[in-house]
Amino acid sequence: MKHLNILVVVATVAYAFLDKYLGIVVEPYVYISFLLFAAINGTLLRYGYVEMAKVFGLVLFNVMIFIVATSEPFSTGMYLQYVTAGSVALALYGYEQWKGALLFVLLSLILNVIVFTSEVSFIPWRAVESDQANVFFVINTLIAAVVSVYAFMFYSKINYESELALKANENIIRNQNAELLKANEELDRFVYSASHDLRSPLATLTGLINLSKLEKDDAEKLKYLDLMKERIRAMDSFISEIIDYSRNSRVEVKKEDVNAKMFLESIADDLRYYAGKESIEIHWEIPEDLVIVTDLSRLKIIFSNLISNAIKYHDPAKKISWIKLKTESDIQEIKIIVEDNGIGINKELKDSIFDMFYRAHEHSTGSGLGLYIVKETLAKLNGKIVVESSEGEGSRFLVTLPATLK
Ligand code: ADP
Repeated sequence: MKHLNILVVVATVAYAFLDKYLGIVVEPYVYISFLLFAAINGTLLRYGYVEMAKVFGLVLFNVMIFIVATSEPFSTGMYLQYVTAGSVALALYGYEQWKGALLFVLLSLILNVIVFTSEVSFIPWRAVESDQANVFFVINTLIAAVVSVYAFMFYSKINYESELALKANENIIRNQNAELLKANEELDRFVYSASHDLRSPLATLTGLINLSKLEKDDAEKLKYLDLMKERIRAMDSFISEIIDYSRNSRVEVKKEDVNAKMFLESIADDLRYYAGKESIEIHWEIPEDLVIVTDLSRLKIIFSNLISNAIKYHDPAKKISWIKLKTESDIQEIKIIVEDNGIGINKELKDSIFDMFYRAHEHSTGSGLGLYIVKETLAKLNGKIVVESSEGEGSRFLVTLPATLK
């Protein structure tokens, strides 16, 4: 519509100059009314009355062409502006509003027929000589052709763009579908393995209860009770891992200031009664004042798992077992390293330890869920984890976190 207005203004000014140059007399109000038309239409558009501007613009454009075309010889080709009006109507209403488009095309057609069949005339005759008429015929043909091509290209462009948008949407949907399939597979695997891991200690407990019923010796009975207690502890830690996992995907990420040293000390302190901890030295290489802005409860899940693994997989064959907790930081990132001289991990299995329910040692006592939860939790904190390990020598887990969680 805006472009139609510009066209009307440019054409009116061009006609006014040409008429003057060729000595053709036209009442000034004819030019003024075309300019006024463009001004009113422009104002309607500016204030958002688009539908009104469309109706007003098309009705008046058709009527004004009618008035002009009936006041000059056919040879100027003014009637060709009905092609312009028709193209504009088709472009403005398009397929979605095809009734509006057809109505205005019909209006142009009817007025065009009347131009040729009736003798009516509303303004003084514009006396154009036949050689001058050729000039106007060329101009009118050009305007009609340019507008028709423009309208066609305009629609082709919209079509092309919507096709591109459809393709982009298709890709998004395909990716989302792949993610959903993956999540579904993981869920299936999770339910299967979790139910298995929950049932097996129950079977052990039932066996131990049966055995202790048959046992006469009190000392042996106490041994069975200890074994039962251990199975219950393992089951409890497995259930709390599942709770951590569900909490990570459910609870919103919070941001708080965390002093790295104090935080890691509190984790090590929580693990003081963890089996095997008493024989392990912890070496600290963390500045007192290092602060990370992140989610504390998620950070706890990550480092409880890493430090308890470092304890769990220490190497009893070594004289001194140690865990080193170290940080490296710059303005953007903080690296927290948990290193141990434990049993290490086989090179070929190393990349799988972050998978769900994956255990890299035959005698692993855990569920194999811990490092999977670490990876998922880190994803929520925009962090990442890599592991370097050498069997028999030890492992080094390097966690990278943004210094300030966005
Ligand atoms: P789990 O509950 O079995 O400990 P994790 O997901 O925490 O499960 O770890 C997966 C596997 O990776 C473990 O079973 C163990 O074989 C190996 N692993 C993890 N941490 C260490 C470590 N610090 N040293 C040696 N092996 C480790």
